[in-house]
Amino acid sequence: MSESRPGVYPSPFSEPFADDTTRPFWKAALDGRLVLQRCTSCQTFVHPPQPYCFACRQGTFAWTELPGSGTIYSFTVVRHPLHPRLQKVVPYVSAVVELDGTQGAGARMLGNLTDCDPDRVRIGDRVQLWFDRVSDTLAVPRFRPEG
Ligand code: ZN
Repeated sequence: MSESRPGVYPSPFSEPFADDTTRPFWKAALDGRLVLQRCTSCQTFVHPPQPYCFACRQGTFAWTELPGSGTIYSFTVVRHPLHPRLQKVVPYVSAVVELDGTQGAGARMLGNLTDCDPDRVRIGDRVQLWFDRVSDTLAVPRFRPEG
């Protein structure tokens, strides 16, 4: 587990344990780039990475780079430390983000919203993805308020 910072949920892992389906996502993350699977048949974005498109059942994707900007679709503020090591972390925000450039549903991304006042977060707020490099092999995607 990485060092505790207020509002930043510590990664329980120091490597992504990627397989053939998820490896391109984590490899790009290490380079500070967000890539999502886009079905080459119906152009639907699929996230988290999957072997088949949920819309048309084809299994061929193009990894497509996105700017990482988006809006909060839903969120929760965690105020109770569910583990003693989270004592200094709470309160923290977990948000579901609708990414710009995607169709929304089926490609929304769950992540920790950092650098914010948990009491002022609202659905529809603009956010920007950033990568928190926690080891030589893992960069954790997180979000922060845009601007
Ligand atoms: Zn498809």
